[in-house]
Amino acid sequence: MEKMILIKYGELTTKKANRKTFIHILEKNIQKILPNDVKIIKDRVRMYILCPEEQLEEIANKLKKVFGLHSIVICYKVNTNIEQIKSTLLEMVKDKKDITFKVETKRADKNFEIPSMEMNHLMGGHLLKNTNMKVDVHNPQLILKIEIRKEGTFLYTNEIDGIGGYPVGIQGKGLLMLSGGIDSPVAGYLALKRGIDIDCLYFESPPHTSIEAKHKVIKLANIINQYSGNIKVHIVPFTKIQEEIYKHVPDSYIITIMRRMMYRIAEEYCKKIGAKVMINGESIGQVASQTLDSMMVINEVVSLPVIRPVACMDKLEIIELSKKINTYETSILPYEDCCTIFLPKHPVIHPVLERAKTYEKNFSFEKLIQEAISHIEVITNLKEEEYQEYL
Ligand code: ATP
Ligand code: MG
Repeated sequence: MEKMILIKYGELTTKKANRKTFIHILEKNIQKILPNDVKIIKDRVRMYILCPEEQLEEIANKLKKVFGLHSIVICYKVNTNIEQIKSTLLEMVKDKKDITFKVETKRADKNFEIPSMEMNHLMGGHLLKNTNMKVDVHNPQLILKIEIRKEGTFLYTNEIDGIGGYPVGIQGKGLLMLSGGIDSPVAGYLALKRGIDIDCLYFESPPHTSIEAKHKVIKLANIINQYSGNIKVHIVPFTKIQEEIYKHVPDSYIITIMRRMMYRIAEEYCKKIGAKVMINGESIGQVASQTLDSMMVINEVVSLPVIRPVACMDKLEIIELSKKINTYETSILPYEDCCTIFLPKHPVIHPVLERAKTYEKNFSFEKLIQEAISHIEVITNLKEEEYQEYL
């Protein structure tokens, strides 16, 4: 008898080659978060994790944040032998008293001679005789699962839900525009869930934005990094560009032009780091710069796809998700963002492309963009000591 973790894969594609890639990347992602001495065994339908018994709980908890898992099960593995199955079942329920139960057998190995229903009765009878539990097939307090497979028999009671999605990295890289707000960390989480390996891009405007605002973004990146382990944060010095916009653009178009600049920088930087898409936290209609007209005028400066995972969610739905992934409390800390410091009283809700283009001719932004890109600061390892104080 051996205790281990059994993993059931999430939403697998049915194509053979994709399945291989899925499992391969998932294994690499899991390896990254586990101690070195832990052994992973994988096949087409399952993964098994072998580790010292005292580490099982901790590892199962870590696996709750790995995309690509349908469920996580702490189980007993025994030889497919009636006596061993019986004694292990008794061991599993030794602390249970006066509760109802049911046995569910799955016979994946058809060479095993006893049909599933018969096994249920056999094992149920054994438990009834040797414990004071009662059977309830409709609404049991405890379900004992028996899975008979070629490699052995697996026994367990409790299946922990995985978070689903695709293994991070299966889709290649994307660049998340991460601000200190509620929406963009949630957008990042959802992009990771689809298998996109994200990096974060943050525009800062010191001294108009504070060092605390920057630390907040690093902290948010670190929280969503629990679902990746691979996130880098790239920080763009945006002060000069913002000041030029402020000087040369009529108030109502400041945000439109500012966002066109952000998009230009993000796209160019995507090409530099090999990202295939941009990702942001825009949500349709939430603010003036997120009306369909605004999106059209802002989006016009780039040709890479822009993914907006929260575009069609209500603010309350976004907040709910941000609480679930633990970014909410940090997001609501009251530090300003570069989008809010120069916020005009009446930002245009239906900007006109030609006017935006005309205003941009008032200053030479190309040079400023290149300068900003060449001074991007990169945080490559969020776990490094120098960032610990922000986290
Ligand atoms: P959030 O809650 O994510 O801050 P928001 O509702 O405040 O979003 P905006 O400030 O208009 O909306 O920003 C829309 C999106 O643009 C953000 O979700 C984020 O993806 C991106 N963005 C805004 N400000 C910055 C910034 N300083 N650095 C990087 N990206 C930013
Ligand atoms: Mg914001």
